This record gives sequence, structure tokens and C-alpha cells, in this order.
Amino acid sequence: MTEIAYRLPQRRQLVTALPGPRSQALAARRKAAVAAGVGSSVPVYAADADGGVIVDVDGNALIDLGSGIAVTGVGASNPAVAAAVAEQAARFTHTCFMVTPYEGYVRVAEELAALTPGAHAKRSVLFNSGAEAVENAVKIARLATGRSAVVAFDHAYHGRTNLTMALTAKSMPYKANFGPFAPEIYRMPMSYPFRDEPGLTGEQAARRAISRIETQLGAQTVAALVIEPIQGEGGFVVPAPGFLATLSEWAAAQGIVFIADEVQTGFARTGAWFACEHEGVVPDLITLAKGIAGGMPLAAVTGRADLLDAVHPGGLGGTYGSNPVACAAALATIDQMRELDLCGRARAIEAAVLPRLRDLAAETGVIGDVRGRGAMLAIELVREGGEPDADLAKAVAAEAFSRGVVLLTCGSFGNVIRLLPPLVIGDDLLAEGIDVLGESLRAAVG
Ligand SMILES: *Cc1c(COP(=O)(O)O)cnc(C)c1O
Repeated sequence: MTEIAYRLPQRRQLVTALPGPRSQALAARRKAAVAAGVGSSVPVYAADADGGVIVDVDGNALIDLGSGIAVTGVGASNPAVAAAVAEQAARFTHTCFMVTPYEGYVRVAEELAALTPGAHAKRSVLFNSGAEAVENAVKIARLATGRSAVVAFDHAYHGRTNLTMALTAKSMPYKANFGPFAPEIYRMPMSYPFRDEPGLTGEQAARRAISRIETQLGAQTVAALVIEPIQGEGGFVVPAPGFLATLSEWAAAQGIVFIADEVQTGFARTGAWFACEHEGVVPDLITLAKGIAGGMPLAAVTGRADLLDAVHPGGLGGTYGSNPVACAAALATIDQMRELDLCGRARAIEAAVLPRLRDLAAETGVIGDVRGRGAMLAIELVREGGEPDADLAKAVAAEAFSRGVVLLTCGSFGNVIRLLPPLVIGDDLLAEGIDVLGESLRAAVG
């Protein structure tokens, strides 16, 4: 694999107690100026980031096992991305594609057609955020089918706008008291092997959902199924093999648009360009964001040309969607993913980390399930009898932070520790991050 040259030393180093004085001063200013409804996983403020390291304003160097929620796969200051951004910003930062179009948008759409699963004719439309992509995928599916019902799944996360809140499963903190929600959204059971009855196959789990759709909605009313091939915020739930394929085949037979929300799983994260590929599933529409542009805000809906071209001109768009600087960043990001073989790196991360998580499970007895693919891995923490242990997950993340590692939690029950390291993290630093996870777990179990 290509050697990666880093700008910052790739080491964990704490020079103050955490948070240090500069971060504390910023926290006080933040409290007086920033809305309380915005949370942060850790209380230190970033000054610099490169490879697997985030340096805070007090000079502490932390190991990054979150990538800003699966965004900075190529690194948070990848030199090729930074150069592409600077070059495009020096030419023009904006014209609005709906006013004066530019080549960057077209090139991104060409790349997405080539990279996403399936050899059929495809089109793309670009947006700013994952939620916006999901909203628009639903708009397209409803218009193209003339139907209104949309099926989402237990533990789903699709965003924070009104329609995507309705698609999202978890009440706190995403939905509570933010309603009323968009109508015609129906929730069906997911395949969650750790919590399903033992032995339930992916196909059986899909049949369970399909039978409910048929009896409660009628397939002919359904415009779209929206599903994350591996669930993100909901707990890194990997459905049983065959679940996605059975749903997708059934949807195709019923004229229902199968929308894969790959906002978190996309762009090499799981060891393939897109997580659907692991299951041989070719979605009708795929929603993309997070890892697409090396940290610049960009999102896309890519899919069947007949669906996307069904929409009348002017029906899709937005002032900033496809910003030319973000498009330049995306093109450089995709190049870097190819050049550095980040799919291969994600698979190497899985090979290095999964066995260590399994060892930790055997040693501590508090890990009910170890799961994930590529550089999207998780441990589900449980009490005796498999009851979710959210307090322990919180304690482990806090311990890890105090030792200089940024770790994220997730899950409907808040009891999952998720690992989303930058794909460019070095082997030694990653191993040290997992060492710290182990130490933190032992300390938190007590
Ligand atoms: C993060 C996420 C979204 C929402 O993306 P934003 O850019 O935060 O709007 C949607 N779907 C999935 C699967 C996500 O992980």
C-alpha cells in the first residue's frame, strides 16, 4: 500500500489536563453565544488535524477514532484535497449551478455513476447535507411512482430535518418535542441479529417486514423503502445476510423504489466503495454525503436515470447544493481514495481491529456483540442477560477521552461504542487507540 506522508507527528500526547485552559475559555464563550441544543462529544476545541491525530487549542494531541462522524476518511487536511479547494476558491467560490453551471458538478456526477453499484444508466443531483439528499430521494421516488407511503426501519437514522426526523427512529435526542412529523412514513422491523430471535435468517427477517407492509399498507401504496445497508447512529447494526437482497428483490417486483442511505457507509468506509456491494444489492437510488468530499459539505442522490429524469426541470436543486469548491474537494477525495487504496485500508483496519475487539469481549464479559465491516466497527455493551448498558458506554468514552482518544457512542439504547477511524490512520496509532479502548473499558468496569 502507498505510504502516507503526514504533516503532524502521529502520536498521542497530553500536555494539560483535559479540557485545558484554552478549551475551557472557549467553552465559556460558547455557552454565552452558541445554542445549547448543539452538543459536542468532547469538550476540547480543535486547532489542527492530520491523519489520525487531532491537536487541540492547548496543544494536546488526541487519537481520532471518529473522523468527524465518518467524514474525513482521507484525513482532515489531506494535501490533495486542500490544494483542490484552494485552487477552486481562487477561481470562483460560487455561481450557482442553477444560474451558471460549471464542469465540476458534471465530473462529480460522472464519477458517482461509475463508482456506485450497477451498470445501468444513472443520473446524479447534488446537495449540501445527508438529510437533504434523503429528502430529495423521497421526493424523486414519490414523483416517479405516483405513490406516497415511505417505509423506514427500526433503529434508522436519516437526519434532522422534518421529513428525515420522521424517517429516523430514535426519539431522544432527535425527535422529542419537535413534531408534528411528516405523514405517510411507516416503520418496519429491521434485521438485528444480536437482538432478533436466534437463528432468524436475513430472508426470514425480510419476510417479516414484507408481510407487515403487505398487510398494513399494501405494496401498491408504497413509493420507497429507505434503508441504511449498515445502520449508523442506530448502533452499527449489520443486517443478517440476505435481508437487503430479499427486500430489494421484493421492492423491484412491486415497483417500489429501493433507496440505500449510504451517507455513513459510503466512500470506502466499509472496505468497498459502498456497503450494498457486500450483499450484491443494486439500489434504485443511493444517498451519499459524509465521506464524499474530505470534509467539505456535499451530498448526492445517484440512481436510475428513468427515476431522476422523471422530475420536471426546476423540481430539484438549491442555492449551494454542488458548491464548486465542494465539488473540487470531492474529485480530489475520490482520486485519493483510489490512489491510496482506501477500500483496501478499510479492510486492513477490520483485519487488525476485529480480533482485538473479540479478545476484549472474551476478557471483560461486558461486550454482547462485536460487529461491523471495514473501518466501521462497534462493540455493544450489555449487563447480565444482554440488557443494554448505556452508562458503561458513556463511561468508556469519557475514560478514553481523558486518555487522549476521541471515541463515539451510538445505538437506539446508547450502549454501542463505534469506531470510525480516518482510513489514513497509521497502523501503530490505530493499535494504540485500541489499547486505550481496552484500558478504558477495564477502568470503567472497575
Ligand atoms: C449522518 C447521516 C445522515 C444525515 O446527514 P447530515 O449531513 O447530517 O444531514 C443521513 N443518513 C445517515 C445514514 C447518516 O449517517
